[in-house]
Amino acid sequence: MSDTPRGVTILGATGSIGASTLDLIGRHTDRFKLRAVTAHRNAEQLAEIARRFQVELAVISDENQLPILREALAGSGISIAAGCDGLNEAAALDSDIVVAGIVGVAGLSSVLTAVRRGAAVAFANKECLVSAGDLMMREVAAHGATLLPTDSEHNAIFQVFEERNRSAIARLILTASGGPFRDWSMEKMAQATPAQAVAHPNWDMGAKISVDSATMMNKGLEVIEARYLFDMPQDRIDVLIHPQSVVHSMVEYRDGSTLAQFGPPDMRVPIASALAWPERIEGPAEKLDLVAIGELSFSEPDVTRFPSLRLAREALNAGAWAPPILNAANEVAVAAFLDGKIGFLDIAAMVEGVLSKTDAPVPQSLDDVFALDALGRRQAEAFLSPSTRAIG
Ligand code: NDP
Repeated sequence: MSDTPRGVTILGATGSIGASTLDLIGRHTDRFKLRAVTAHRNAEQLAEIARRFQVELAVISDENQLPILREALAGSGISIAAGCDGLNEAAALDSDIVVAGIVGVAGLSSVLTAVRRGAAVAFANKECLVSAGDLMMREVAAHGATLLPTDSEHNAIFQVFEERNRSAIARLILTASGGPFRDWSMEKMAQATPAQAVAHPNWDMGAKISVDSATMMNKGLEVIEARYLFDMPQDRIDVLIHPQSVVHSMVEYRDGSTLAQFGPPDMRVPIASALAWPERIEGPAEKLDLVAIGELSFSEPDVTRFPSLRLAREALNAGAWAPPILNAANEVAVAAFLDGKIGFLDIAAMVEGVLSKTDAPVPQSLDDVFALDALGRRQAEAFLSPSTRAIG
């Protein structure tokens, strides 16, 4: 690594990915210099981060929170911006690496801004790739950007994927913990509360991805993400339940070798790998103690109890219009579940209902993707309105 610290921008600095990234940067100030940070509403926390790391730019995307940020950073010399333009300004700053840690398709425009200036992007935000996979990968190629997969499964595959032997790869195997309801009956899941759904047994994550893990939509989104990141047809992307979350994913080669990446379930491991790539840095995560873990187990996912995985595969098969619809409907459904408006099993039912009612042309541009996202949201909201509600 060069003597000059790498400049870093974190999109979504106040979230779970943001916190893990800040922890690593704080331990390696000789290697990394935080230059810009963004948040949505959490202006006070954003200001605290901005002051602690003496960044150049702090951006709040909810413009209503701008006065709070302005007051909290008064006299600091830190530049301030707001709204979607502000997010794009942060992504456009010439940092060496941009951490894509915004949740949801709300992060798409800023990630594309970073890609279009040829940045290295530590890619955690899976919803962007799910919604705009083809377009995103085309932009990456056109602008010479570097995508560093940071979702733990994709980071694992990235670490053991031999590009020079691509034709010798038989399949990718994504592992899944199975989430907090792995062994629950349908009857019990029907009564699951938001607090139970976000209490993941192995990982400490934001609310939305925790609910996605509980429904297993997270794994469905990851199959789509892997499809685009590694240019692999979905029938060569398999999923295995692995409750210990130690093997983070695998690549099976045609000669019979399967290469896997092992690590503790701590996002600082894949984030450290992405930040330092192609080198490695000292990581703070507890080292893996395989003797203490004792046994590693694997089984097939149950798509009857967890239909979201099937829905994601169906969306991939349906054509490029369907993943953004699936993602938008899922974002609305998860938010409604967290708000207590629908039950846990209604999430997948809503997504399935929206997908089955929709047909649309393949998106050709980012505007088309945003239009599909808006359509998926409208369809999902219609399921929520009392007059049209047909789920459960
Ligand atoms: P969190 O909910 O913890 O944090 C989300 C971040 O995005 C916050 O900084 C939040 O700001 C910001 N944000 C939320 N809504 C918007 C919006 N509309 N516009 C702009 N910014 C917004 O999420 P996670 O960190 O858990 O997840 C981030 C992404 O990384 C997701 O796509 C997730 O799937 C992926 N991921 C996360 C993992 C994890 O361990 N957490 C693991 C693998 C992938 P504010 O705080 O102000 O609301």
